[in-house]
Amino acid sequence: FPPARAKLNDVALFAHCARRRRHSSHKGSNGSVAVVGGARGMAGAPILAARTALNAGAGRVYACFVGDPPAFDAAQPELMCRSAQEYDFNSAILVIGPGMGGSASGAEMLASALHSHSPVVLDADALNLVAGSGPLQTQLAQRSAPCILTPHPLEAARLLGMSADQVQADRPAAARRLASKLAATVVLKGSGTVIAARDGTIVINNTGNPALATAGAGDVLSGLCGALLAQGWPEWEAALAGAWLHGMAADVLVSEGAGPIGITASELIPAIRAAVNRL
Ligand code: AMP
Ligand code: MG
Repeated sequence: FPPARAKLNDVALFAHCARRRRHSSHKGSNGSVAVVGGARGMAGAPILAARTALNAGAGRVYACFVGDPPAFDAAQPELMCRSAQEYDFNSAILVIGPGMGGSASGAEMLASALHSHSPVVLDADALNLVAGSGPLQTQLAQRSAPCILTPHPLEAARLLGMSADQVQADRPAAARRLASKLAATVVLKGSGTVIAARDGTIVINNTGNPALATAGAGDVLSGLCGALLAQGWPEWEAALAGAWLHGMAADVLVSEGAGPIGITASELIPAIRAAVNRL
């Protein structure tokens, strides 16, 4: 790659993908998202991702659990809670990893989800499982469907076989290496999120603030990217818009005096919905 010449993330890079809803649209026009994760004790992570996908405009959203699924989400009863073992991975955009755990059954779910032809967003434990498995890396690199990876620096470090300090020392280079290694669009998270394309293009996100340094913020981002893919956004623009809208939601909450201290990931969700509708 030539040296990274990064652009700053700007609405102009992705606004052309935002579409008004047709008067005649129905839930089938707006795509389906299935979040796959939720090992025992970590059910909240896929629920946050799934609630975000719904509020960001996906037509139907499934929350699929590696552990026992709850009967339903009382705060968001629109979600369909399923056992991951019983879900057909071919019928939705897949957001894989939130709270999935690193168990053998998580790895099995990931391998069978990657066997589908569905577009995927991989986050959290899905990335850790890929880091620890050559066959999963090969499987991932050989897929042709859209793929967005959303690692934080430690997850990126595991995938690259280096330390998080080494990733942080040159974030654009790390994001590029990962995008080329796994044939995906990479969203390397943290202050100044770096979005890298397979061809080496680099964009630095300029929204967001330390209010996002809180549990579940990453789950919300993965659900948002999934919702944009489900509504027909191409992989690259979905990654750019996902990072930008996620940061913008936090910026709006802080400007309204709600933070930065103590903002919760759940509160980002209605702010993301408002930001999506303003595009
Ligand atoms: P995770 O570590 O998976 O929970 O993801 C955290 C999310 O919050 C990512 O989207 C990060 O980019 C974002 N985030 C965390 N800390 C900051 C920060 N100091 N400034 C901007 N964004 C942040
Ligand atoms: Mg995370």
